[in-house]
Amino acid sequence: MNTAKRQRPGTGAPIRNDILRALLESEYRDLRPRLEQVELKPGEIIYRADQAIKYVYFPGRAAVATIETLEDGRTVEVGIIGAEGMVGINIFLGCLISPDKAVVHVPGDAMRMKANDLRQAVRFGSPLQRLLLRYTQVLLASISQSVACSQHHALVQRVARLILTLRDHAESNEFTMSHRSIATLLGMRREGVSEAAGKLQAAGLITYSRAHIRILDAAGLKKQSCECYRFIRRQINGMQRDMPRVLAEPQRRGRRDAS
Ligand SMILES: [Zn+2]
Repeated sequence: MNTAKRQRPGTGAPIRNDILRALLESEYRDLRPRLEQVELKPGEIIYRADQAIKYVYFPGRAAVATIETLEDGRTVEVGIIGAEGMVGINIFLGCLISPDKAVVHVPGDAMRMKANDLRQAVRFGSPLQRLLLRYTQVLLASISQSVACSQHHALVQRVARLILTLRDHAESNEFTMSHRSIATLLGMRREGVSEAAGKLQAAGLITYSRAHIRILDAAGLKKQSCECYRFIRRQINGMQRDMPRVLAEPQRRGRRDAS
């Protein structure tokens, strides 16, 4: 990618990814030469289904949706991954192929690493392995919740949840997202998105015109959203709180063993 640039020690942009930030005191220096800073563009496809994964991505401001496509062309979001995680967890789990398509939905920065480099970097018991295991728990819980959401929650609730999720990743109450993109993520028809968005607009919670979404009342939108927004937020917050413990535990054990 022409716009990619290496982050250099002492002069690089601030790191926003939670996993890489947690590593700053430990393994980050070793990983740094293998990390490449990239800018992800909206709509950019970073994985296609059933193709080899070349890179894993640690998003900063960017958010990437993994999307399952059925044989008849219908789609549904499996997960949205932002600064809390890593895109390409299959590499960590030992699979070199992506089962899903992965598309950038919030543009922004990310750090990427060759899949092979990640496999070599993840040693048994290493801080990176422990953090990625903890993140995998969050991802699995989020995917389970998304399945329940798609089966049981109303379209307007799901649109509210998605808008709040994208807002958190974009760190802004205004962002761009077409009806078609929302329909793809939620496995809905575009007409369904228009109808649900119309209800949220009529309630004074958002404005949505020409793919431009503006949140007017975030608290009201949270009330309108299904429980899934809060559930997934809790998983991410819990992981962030947990990271020092996840990193410190083996050291404590080591001291006890030594005494
Ligand atoms: Zn839901």
